[in-house]
Amino acid sequence: MTQGICWLDERIQSLTEARIPVLDHGLLYGDGIFEGVRFYHGKAFLLAEHLRRLYDSARAIHLNIPWKEQELTGIVEQLIAAFPLANGYLRIVITRGEGALGIDPGSCHHPRLLIIADRLQMIPDNIRQRGANLIIAATRRLPPDGLDPRVKSLNYLNHILARMEANYAGVHEAVLLNGRGQVTEGTADNLFIVKNSVLLTPPVTDGALAGVTRQLILELATGLKMENHEQTLTPYDLYTADECFLTGTGAELIPVYSIDGRRLAECPGPVFSQLAAAFERHIDNTCGKQS
Ligand code: PMP
Repeated sequence: MTQGICWLDERIQSLTEARIPVLDHGLLYGDGIFEGVRFYHGKAFLLAEHLRRLYDSARAIHLNIPWKEQELTGIVEQLIAAFPLANGYLRIVITRGEGALGIDPGSCHHPRLLIIADRLQMIPDNIRQRGANLIIAATRRLPPDGLDPRVKSLNYLNHILARMEANYAGVHEAVLLNGRGQVTEGTADNLFIVKNSVLLTPPVTDGALAGVTRQLILELATGLKMENHEQTLTPYDLYTADECFLTGTGAELIPVYSIDGRRLAECPGPVFSQLAAAFERHIDNTCGKQS
């Protein structure tokens, strides 16, 4: 049974009682945007960065968010305070709101805000220790001239199809390629490799979300004096990497054990372990250690 709660219709409700009207265009057409945010020790992690991306996503899809950043921050703080655990996950969703049937958003005058606070375990702890098995999915990432991958929209169907491919293959996660066969990201996480002690991740222009965790990992790597670049990667680069790992708010940091059955040289490798320790320290420094 979930202990989850949410902010909906200007008040905190339990997830079991909260209801959304059937004519909400977020439900009917996936017309909306979202963010996932972790909280540790009762404090939201990298909230300002997530809200910046939320406002950017809204501007890109021509959705006017009526709530100021300070208001959203205040609601997030209230919700975390009301949640029974000190650590958890927030899902901030803004839909175009209710409108007439039909795709035209012209009749949607009031965006809807929903913020869920709950627990999230994307992957079991033993897989986190041992490393995840990946496949490269046949389902491709949407091209940027269709929908820019930097928009974190409610349209995740191709990611869901890729994730189902992983389920059918009996592995933990799938990597999506772009239309040119280049690596973009996982279904809900960004991807890094290490080759000859250099940390590499695809540029977002190859089709990845500009992950908040991805950005932090690049900054932590620079702080640790690790050579790191954004570089276009192909499946060959993944198969021949020394290390590979996934990053994301839900995923946090997950080392990769194998890709399409090929074992990575090291898992968890030394670069991963150093970055994972720096990531933990960053959480403690910004959210405070639990007493
Ligand atoms: N890519 C996709 C498609 C995602 O949904 C997510 C999760 N938000 C990520 C990458 C990781 O991004 P972040 O580190 O900002 O959570």
